[in-house]
Amino acid sequence: MAWPPGSWLGYSSAGGLGGPGRWTVPVIADRDVERVLVVVAHPDDAEFWAGGTVAGWTDTGIDVTYCVLTDGDGGGFDPDVPRGEIPRIRRAEQQESASMLGVCAVRFLGSSEGSLLDAPRQLHEDLVRMIRQVRPQRVLTWSPEWNWQRFRSCHPDHLATGTAVLNAIYPDASNPFALIHLLQDEGLEPWTVQEAWLLNSPQREINHYVDITDTFDRKVAAVLAHASQIKDPDGLAGRLRERIAPNTAAAGLPEGRLAEAFQVVVTG
Ligand SMILES: [Zn+2]
Repeated sequence: MAWPPGSWLGYSSAGGLGGPGRWTVPVIADRDVERVLVVVAHPDDAEFWAGGTVAGWTDTGIDVTYCVLTDGDGGGFDPDVPRGEIPRIRRAEQQESASMLGVCAVRFLGSSEGSLLDAPRQLHEDLVRMIRQVRPQRVLTWSPEWNWQRFRSCHPDHLATGTAVLNAIYPDASNPFALIHLLQDEGLEPWTVQEAWLLNSPQREINHYVDITDTFDRKVAAVLAHASQIKDPDGLAGRLRERIAPNTAAAGLPEGRLAEAFQVVVTG
């Protein structure tokens, strides 16, 4: 793959934010991306934060694989649902939601919510293995940074996920001598991820927007598939629209367009 491919300043998969922009990050053109790995903490994270973008990627033929680290067993709102049923319910919802966006595979690591810091070496190895198996040019995951403007989006699992994924991308996924049994026993060659797209980064770090106007309805439908988490389904589209409304002006888009926001970090 050519690198850099010459797509600078806000290339967008879903809506064509090309041309002069305010961003300075080099972003690989979607046509040069074969595989994306999305690593999130909980079922529904990917759809809430990047569902429109994921739909745009799969529309262009990119293979998108999800890796969901926990079963989100602390989630839900209905006390009548037996808590022991939550992991099964949430995995099924995630599978359905992902398939609505054209995601080709969903892998569940099966950790309990809130437990990602309990076995850091195991999580690290699992993520290095996943990266070497999927061999993505682009990884989408949580920012490891606190966002003080969105405190309640900074779930400890989100921050732990971001830290663990970036630590796996560099150095060990691309170092043949790290976790050497992955190469010797499992035949997993080292792999260099070219870029990481981070969710919920502090506003000052946002450097890329994707126009999701055309995929917004699919995002809403995919979020609605997480029915165990949506107390007011009728108001969901409005809430999602309101949540991302500030991105329109920040992205330099005309009124009425919708965008998802990312911090893109060059990792390759
Ligand atoms: Zn979450």
